[in-house]
Amino acid sequence: MNANLRRNGTNMISLIIPVYNEEENLPILISEIEMALAGFGASFEAIFVNDGSRDQSWPVLVQAAKNKPWVKVINFRKNFGQTAALAAGINHARGEIIIPLDADLQNDPQDIPLFISKMNEGYDVVSGWRKHRQDKMLSRKIPSWLANALISKITGIHLHDYGCTMKAYRREVIKDVKLYGEMHRFMPAYAAWFGAKTTEIIVNHRARKFGKTKYGISRTFKVVLDLLVVKFLSNYFTKPMHFFGKVGFYSLALSLCSGLLAVYLREWHHISFISTPLPLLTVFLGLLAIQFILLGLLAEMLTRIYYEGQDKPTYLVKEKINFDNNSEQ
Ligand code: UDP
Ligand code: MG
Repeated sequence: MNANLRRNGTNMISLIIPVYNEEENLPILISEIEMALAGFGASFEAIFVNDGSRDQSWPVLVQAAKNKPWVKVINFRKNFGQTAALAAGINHARGEIIIPLDADLQNDPQDIPLFISKMNEGYDVVSGWRKHRQDKMLSRKIPSWLANALISKITGIHLHDYGCTMKAYRREVIKDVKLYGEMHRFMPAYAAWFGAKTTEIIVNHRARKFGKTKYGISRTFKVVLDLLVVKFLSNYFTKPMHFFGKVGFYSLALSLCSGLLAVYLREWHHISFISTPLPLLTVFLGLLAIQFILLGLLAEMLTRIYYEGQDKPTYLVKEKINFDNNSEQ
């Protein structure tokens, strides 16, 4: 399927669009998508996920779906957040190429063909970069620069704009990624860790005309916390003992040093045990070491339950030859 897509340059494209109170934007967006993809050759679907909107977004979507079979709509029972909406859309997508984009017209559907042609050059992930971003400087652009630098450094995958929703993914590189919290922005890093070939392109970005943004500065903190989780999961998820055990050993080493120092001070300088905090520190670090090592063992058990209980592989296969379709080896 993969090779096929590259040869023909056409296959189904799934656009995934999370929607939260975007009633004025939707009709414009739908006609922009239609214009961008008319005559493009590839078949496409646009999956709109209504994330508990309180305005007329849902009736607008239902109406559009009646007239246009490529408009597919999912209605959430309540507001679960943009990441959940994206996850639902991805789970329902049938396309070989999956392109999430915002519903607020900030992303430009005219860019879709650019993404597709990059994918046809053989990339698995094409990340959008809002080089000329039309958002507030202090509350959005500066935190975003810092966050991108940090994410790039920590994940080791250097992209200018993790926060840009508009990206293209080959289905197979993200189909097993489970999304929590604010984690949709880390999808390119996940995919790259599992061997996806990744690049970025500059996309058009427009100021929001209708409705208002749903986020403020607090999102940056959530993103940074999620980043810690992602980093831990990526480096240590299959071997948590290496992380906890390491911290445990460092504590143990410090505990020994402080214990030896206390003994040395008493024997050679006649400073009694109780006149320095060192014995307390020794006990404290010693206990910490034991705690960390036990925590590591516990985490190892959880990891085994996670993988074995749900039969999840700890790898991702790119292609297979001479296997039956169903065989998993
Ligand atoms: N969105 C959503 N659920 C939410 C918040 C936002 O589905 O709880 C959607 C929103 O409708 C838009 C996209 O996510 O299509 C990005 O949101 P927004 O434009 O507010 O973010 P910003 O562009 O300001 O980062
Ligand atoms: Mg926006």
